[in-house]
Amino acid sequence: MCNATTVLVTGASRGIGRAIALRLAETNDVAVNYFRSADAAREVVREAEAKGATASAFRADVRDSDAVTSMVDDVVRTFDGLDAVVNNAGIVRPSRATEITDEQWQDVMETNLGGAFYTARAAIPHISPGGDVVNVSSIGGTGGTVDASYAASKAGLHGLTRSLARELGPDGVQVNAIAPGPVETDLNDDIVSYLEDIDFRGHENVDTHLPTYACDPEAIAHTVEYVLENDFVHGEIVNVNGGMQFR
Ligand code: NAD
Repeated sequence: MCNATTVLVTGASRGIGRAIALRLAETNDVAVNYFRSADAAREVVREAEAKGATASAFRADVRDSDAVTSMVDDVVRTFDGLDAVVNNAGIVRPSRATEITDEQWQDVMETNLGGAFYTARAAIPHISPGGDVVNVSSIGGTGGTVDASYAASKAGLHGLTRSLARELGPDGVQVNAIAPGPVETDLNDDIVSYLEDIDFRGHENVDTHLPTYACDPEAIAHTVEYVLENDFVHGEIVNVNGGMQFR
């Protein structure tokens, strides 16, 4: 993908999404999707503009396919096109399989998997050859976790990524997923509290050269940028986990 393109990042008002939007703002225009945090999204827009990007915030709940379609149409109108989408919005509702409610299960699946699908489906008709779809997945999607809804939603995202890669590759659109291990954000704090509560010890036997597995959101943003800029990464699940899990 060339510079001066427009990238829509979902869930970009904080955490990893914010880091992705701001990193990409150095060489792209950015559409900042948010759900509840209008003020935080406006601040991301201000910071993106300070880096020289044209930026704008767009409210949409990614679980709502009509709202997502309207948002994508708004983005295309505002920026006169759309070159890439980064499906980053995600949630956890940490729970044992026997304890999760139907509502929690559906919330996780609809946000993490449904949201990525609805956004990609709405965006694809606007993305020209050379454009990208990038899904922010998780180490849980490849290795499983003791939080079945989250792992299932992210494993589904891997299937979606590879299927879209097959479907869109011939049209020149690259599709990939990034699968982070722990990243220092509010979402990870929720996961860590849950794993402590259930006294989970499943990660103890893995060696790494790093003092901690948990990385800064910037490391994920850097990887998204790499995938967007490298035309030869396609249909991949790119692991960024500090050696927590080998593939
Ligand atoms: P976060 O909670 O800081 O940010 C999540 C973002 O998604 C927020 O901006 C939130 O408003 C947005 N969001 C949630 N539901 C939404 C909805 N229905 N519509 C629109 N936006 C919505 O979490 P994060 O750690 O920055 O997570 C970002 C992505 O990275 C998620 O997909 C998450 O699963 C993934 N991830 C995070 C970690 C980690 O350790 N933090 C590890 C692996 C993968």
